[in-house]
Amino acid sequence: MKYQNLHIQTQREFPNNARTPGFGWLVRAGYMTRENEILPLGQQVIERLKNLSADPSYFSLLTFPFFHNDHETFFAIPTGSTEIIHCESCKYTERLELAQFKKIPFSQESQLPVEKVLTPDCNTIESLANFLNIPKEKIAKALMYTRLSDGQLVFVVVRGDMTMSEAKLKNTVGEVRMATAEEITNAGAAAGYASPVGLNAKRVLIVIDDLIPQSPNLAAGANETGYHLLNTNCGRDYSPEIIADLIQSKAGDSCVNCGSPLSIHSAISLATRREFNFGNILLALAETHHDDKGLTFPKSAAPFDVYLMHIPGKQLDTCTRAEEIYGQLQAAGISVLFDDRDERAGVKFNDADLIGCPVRVTVGEKALQNGMVELKPRKEKENKLVALEKIIEEIL
Ligand SMILES: [Zn+2]
Repeated sequence: MKYQNLHIQTQREFPNNARTPGFGWLVRAGYMTRENEILPLGQQVIERLKNLSADPSYFSLLTFPFFHNDHETFFAIPTGSTEIIHCESCKYTERLELAQFKKIPFSQESQLPVEKVLTPDCNTIESLANFLNIPKEKIAKALMYTRLSDGQLVFVVVRGDMTMSEAKLKNTVGEVRMATAEEITNAGAAAGYASPVGLNAKRVLIVIDDLIPQSPNLAAGANETGYHLLNTNCGRDYSPEIIADLIQSKAGDSCVNCGSPLSIHSAISLATRREFNFGNILLALAETHHDDKGLTFPKSAAPFDVYLMHIPGKQLDTCTRAEEIYGQLQAAGISVLFDDRDERAGVKFNDADLIGCPVRVTVGEKALQNGMVELKPRKEKENKLVALEKIIEEIL
């Protein structure tokens, strides 16, 4: 490919909307626009990535750090819109909303009799915990939803110190929305003071987190405004239809596999079992592979193997010689970006560094008079002179 045919436009400045270094370099090197549109150079990388993607060790070939499980691969980046849970010890990885963790039940105690108590203005977990002077984990938190498919009221109970994951609930019962005040009242419950105790099992679907059966003597709503029940016990005072893991994990929870503390990361998704997100893979490459001059893509992902350029000469026609080398390299199966512009050497060197092909080959008058060209690996400081007939073996 020739530089001018690809319409490459490198930029002198970082775009002012560059939220990450990798994005900034992709825009400066002419791989994409600041509006996130992929340009021909970026497309060239994506074509290479597509060819590579059949390889089972695909992501290892790209030499960047990634997180994965058997159905999705992620790259951690501060601006990522997907939150993932990760275990450093055993590499367990999952989307935050679906991640499992090791739940620790509190110590067993014998069941105490239910007691109805007056709890004025205690319609939140915090206010109830303060009023009763008990920890939040001793409260049964009630959440009410309506299932979209059949209008069924879904009554959820989780421990008061935990956050329910809507994604897990949807995986358990199907699509839901928050129940309206009218739907809650019709089911016999009282908003802010609701519990499954005494509800008509025909009218509500009681779904509880799997920690609730191991949590005796929880305070719960009395289904009467201003009142709560002390010492409710699942199984004795109400019977759930479904027991499932419904809790959203958080940083510091224990890994479900090995018990090590879990961490949380912002990330982008690179691939699912069905498809690759090549735009995100391009960004992950740029985030990992750059220095202070530009991109430094590995050979497996660079748009071209070689950046070939000539420095216009006074006595020799360096452009024609470069054109010949261009043909030889291509015939040897090496992909080449040929910078055939009539630009100053400094401009071309800068662009070569920005674009980041693994090797730069420079055809200049002085070296050419001795039958040599200059060869510089992108990630090394020094260049070396290579005889014309040795170029291909040096590059391969
Ligand atoms: Zn683990």
